[in-house]
Amino acid sequence: MNGSVLTLCDGSFQMPLALFSPHPAIASLAEKIGRAITVPVQCHLVREEAGFLLVDAGGGSLMGAGFGAMAERLAQRHIRPCAIESIYLTHLHGDHIGGLIGPDDAAAFPRARLHLSRMEYEFWTSYADAGSHAAIARDARRILRVWAGRITLLEPGESAGPMTCLPLPGHTPGHSGWRYGDRTIFAGDVAHHALQLTYPNIETQWDMSPADARTSRHDVLYCMRGYNMRAFFSHVHSHP
Ligand SMILES: [Zn+2]
Repeated sequence: MNGSVLTLCDGSFQMPLALFSPHPAIASLAEKIGRAITVPVQCHLVREEAGFLLVDAGGGSLMGAGFGAMAERLAQRHIRPCAIESIYLTHLHGDHIGGLIGPDDAAAFPRARLHLSRMEYEFWTSYADAGSHAAIARDARRILRVWAGRITLLEPGESAGPMTCLPLPGHTPGHSGWRYGDRTIFAGDVAHHALQLTYPNIETQWDMSPADARTSRHDVLYCMRGYNMRAFFSHVHSHP
């Protein structure tokens, strides 16, 4: 099972379809299922010989009721939090970092080291004070403080262990994917629904720069179709 990827669902939330840009495929989905979709919040666990790697950490107690199932899913598989060696973050939104701390506000993974892109770190710790981003920045800073001294910041194309940091901006300025080996990409929030993989020009208002996010989606699709890579997304059920 070395190198295998396990998807762990931490919880889910409702996403109004009105947040997507107008498109016939979205209109026909709305006719079938109504105004909102249920969006899973997924983390991905990779088993390596040296230990376990985790991509994103779910919403945990930060996101309130209905989140935090990842910890139970790990326990069901007899994987203790201290068995997680490295965590790779795609970005610093609460549904990806809340699970980094337990209900006692201590680091939920006592031995792990945290990896994220330097640009994402700097955006939320230095620039994101204003308006609607203030609450996200406050949560991110609080959680990063708990992890201080155990954080590695990476530049685009830089590797840490078996993962390489791939800039996929748009959802947030420093949103990054992680390339694992030659065949796998963890693509975070490059898409929020499978329809965006069929029609990559469908945008969502949840992306800080919808145009950059669209370019990032095309980049990931190019890797999938051109190089036969498999991609795992945080909010789209896992692609084989
Ligand atoms: Zn997300």
